[in-house]
Amino acid sequence: MVLKITKCEKSRINDVDFNNLSFGKEISDHVFIAEFDGNSWINERIQPYTPLQLNISLSALHYGQSIFEGLKAFRDINNQIQIFRPIDNFKRMNLSAKRMCMQEIPEELFFKGLNHLCNIDKNWISNKQGNSFYLRPLLFATDESLGVHASKKYIFAIFGCAVGAYYSKSLKIKVETNFTRACIGGTGEAKTAGNYAASLLAAKIASEQGFDQILWTDSIEHKYIEELGSSNIFILSDKNLITPQTSGTVLKGITRDSVIKLAKSMNYNVEERKISIDEIFELSTQQKLTEVFATGTAATIVSIKELNYNGNSIFINQKNDTLSSILKNKLDEIKHSKTADIFGWNYTVKINEPSTSF
Ligand SMILES: *Cc1c(COP(=O)(O)O)cnc(C)c1O
Repeated sequence: MVLKITKCEKSRINDVDFNNLSFGKEISDHVFIAEFDGNSWINERIQPYTPLQLNISLSALHYGQSIFEGLKAFRDINNQIQIFRPIDNFKRMNLSAKRMCMQEIPEELFFKGLNHLCNIDKNWISNKQGNSFYLRPLLFATDESLGVHASKKYIFAIFGCAVGAYYSKSLKIKVETNFTRACIGGTGEAKTAGNYAASLLAAKIASEQGFDQILWTDSIEHKYIEELGSSNIFILSDKNLITPQTSGTVLKGITRDSVIKLAKSMNYNVEERKISIDEIFELSTQQKLTEVFATGTAATIVSIKELNYNGNSIFINQKNDTLSSILKNKLDEIKHSKTADIFGWNYTVKINEPSTSF
């Protein structure tokens, strides 16, 4: 399949202040789009970032078949573009597609889109410290009929935005014991739009109460911790690094996996298991709660300074050389090829597919 490339007439890049990027606002000039017509993938193209024409009967809007991914590209010290662990995002996207009864994406298509988008908008990937290019692949259902069914037609798209260093100010967290993000047998492990829609009200209430984020708990007893709004959580007690196991209700974060692998390589004892909020409060009472931090592609690694559970708070006094800051630096060095990529996480952007320009 030949990719058609239509370039924008005028780049918007001169309007962007790369010293002062917000998250998700500085969308680059082009997008990659492919359509599944019920039989095959067609109309693969790079086109300017402009509105699409779609009908309001679009099934994604009514019945929620919509999934996405989030990954980052970096300009490394050799000025090459490296994408961090894209094969893992590809695999997770197809697991989400399976769960939501959607068409799966061919690996070749996913990587063709990433390569071409990063190449055509390479000027948006700056080498400034802390900056990166956030890539957002998404897949949504495009059947136009009202009967409830799994759509036959889909659009797969990737767009990207220049993003800066997420300010890693320490977070004040509310442990949620009323609303539920995910339950066993539900869609918690899929990166699907509806999970976010369902979480917004609880997040809004927590924000009005002065919290930065919510820590979700299990849906049955609201006793065991699960994850934050869009990041996973780790508890450090001496040399033991504990994180909730992923058994259907927790999103399997790729940053989570990177942290587990790095920590193990540093001889930390990593435990993936059930951890109750009572256990965390008990560790705090015994002064054995060393660190608490969150992990995700957007936020990378961010420390948590306060956990509030039904009105009672514990405070975590983190020192300077925290494990979370060490892990964050190590990850950063790998992403920028400053240190050996011993886990094989970087993917160097290349262009080898045929394309036609218009
Ligand atoms: C994307 C996401 C994460 C973090 O996953 P990463 O692969 O590390 O970016 C965690 N929780 C939820 C609910 C998410 O959607």
